[in-house]
Amino acid sequence: MSKNIYQFLDVQRIDPPKKALRERQIEFVEIYEPMSELQAQGQSDRCLDCGNPYCEWKCPVHNYIPQWLELVQQGRIFEAAELCHETNSLPEVCGRVCPQDRLCEGACTLNDDYGAVTIGSIEKYITDTAFAQGWRPDLSHVEATDFKVAVVGAGPAGLACADVLIRHGITPAVYDKYPEIGGLLTYGIPPFKLEKSVLERRREIFTDMGIQFKLGVEVGRDVLFADLVQKYDAVFVALGTYQALDGKLQGLDAKGVHHALAYLIGNTQTLMNEQMPAYPLINLEGKRVVVLGGGDTGMDCVRTAIRQQAESVVCAYRRDEGNMPGSRREVQNAREEGVQFEFNLQPIAIENKENQVVGVRMIRTELGSPDSNGRRRPQPVPDSEFVMPADAVVIAFGYQPNPPQWLQDEGVELSEWGTVIADESSRYPLQTSNPKIFSGGDMVRGADLVVTAIAQGRAAALGIADYLTSG
Ligand code: FAD
Ligand code: SF4
Repeated sequence: MSKNIYQFLDVQRIDPPKKALRERQIEFVEIYEPMSELQAQGQSDRCLDCGNPYCEWKCPVHNYIPQWLELVQQGRIFEAAELCHETNSLPEVCGRVCPQDRLCEGACTLNDDYGAVTIGSIEKYITDTAFAQGWRPDLSHVEATDFKVAVVGAGPAGLACADVLIRHGITPAVYDKYPEIGGLLTYGIPPFKLEKSVLERRREIFTDMGIQFKLGVEVGRDVLFADLVQKYDAVFVALGTYQALDGKLQGLDAKGVHHALAYLIGNTQTLMNEQMPAYPLINLEGKRVVVLGGGDTGMDCVRTAIRQQAESVVCAYRRDEGNMPGSRREVQNAREEGVQFEFNLQPIAIENKENQVVGVRMIRTELGSPDSNGRRRPQPVPDSEFVMPADAVVIAFGYQPNPPQWLQDEGVELSEWGTVIADESSRYPLQTSNPKIFSGGDMVRGADLVVTAIAQGRAAALGIADYLTSG
């Protein structure tokens, strides 16, 4: 029987149900309930199966979206999971944390008038369901080689690289300074977006596939990078980008001013009961909290403060809501949970009394002409300064690269912004100026997304395989 392509007229877009608000405001668990089989099939069936699927082009790993939606609709979950893994190393993660409204779902033909197909939730459904039913990647056809590659950094870029390498018969050894894999997936993104058990399950699966993990090992301190370059046939470096921007505000030294990642990592490591947390817990219970910045990191901070029972939580952003860089879905979730948004405000200084934060001096802004990225610049409105009261301020302005010196010592060239120079379209994609060293993720792109880090890790693995076998 041929497919009814007008199904979207009868079946509306329905997102998976969210947990009760009262629970969400106190618990550090994922807020979305799993989709049922019936829901997933009904929502998959809304796909028009466009001849030229824009969703697939817009997805940075170019997932075969219409094809796996059809398999879900037919109940063929194992085949759908197999297909998901052909293009994506961590589909269960992307289904949870990709800003789909800006990527696949934003490009869905149904998006404007009928509501996009719930692509992200279905990607999560496929992988979670297949894993729960016992499906595992099948590597029985892979022919092992003698090549060995060191991967430094177990974030999404490093994990994706290791995944594709092992599928090409090349054994990766993944080094990370933290005791668990995932990088920012584990330590930055809070559990209400991505529960930590998801990465634990992934580590078991990758280990069973033959990937070696050397966790709790800091390269440059516990082992020398030069030794890895010598010992392995190639090295992939994906250390992320961690130098916090602080806007050079006055008063940053006051007690009660916190950097976003220190705040988030300290909270997550405490929830994970880690023995030697890299950052202490910062508890904002009972405080009037102001978070500066409107990106994904800012959203994670405001929602963490809500769950810590802050007295009030304000997100202050210098442009208007339409220009916020964070995912629309997460802004909506934050608002539902009780976060107050204040737009068109530029912080000027942290106000303190006896070195304890008492507020943030702000100036109102209006949007002027576009900058080089096409985003309208916020311009200060004269005579509009005021102080927003606060007991705690979290700075979430973003991150810039902080590559270690040992990379340059091995001949890896950096751009003027400090990112590693490694081109996706070169003969061996993502090879650096040292032919044996490849790199990807945030340290090449600058702070970006999980799925773009995965795309680069996968591209680099193909570059490494080609470099090793054609050398
Ligand atoms: P990372 O994830 O940073 O991983 C780098 C790894 O390298 C880390 O595990 C680190 O421990 C390790 N490492 C560093 N130095 C050494 C060393 N010397 N020796 C050994 N190991 C080392 N993106 C989204 O798509 N959706 C979101 O919702 C989202 N939310 C975010 C929330 C926050 C708070 C932040 C900060 C970022 C968020 N992002 C989000 C961005 C996303 O997490 C990053 O773009 C992505 O994780 C980058 O991957 P990566 O592998 O390049 O680096
Ligand atoms: Fe959409 Fe991200 Fe999945 Fe691609 S990986 S289909 S962008 S949710």
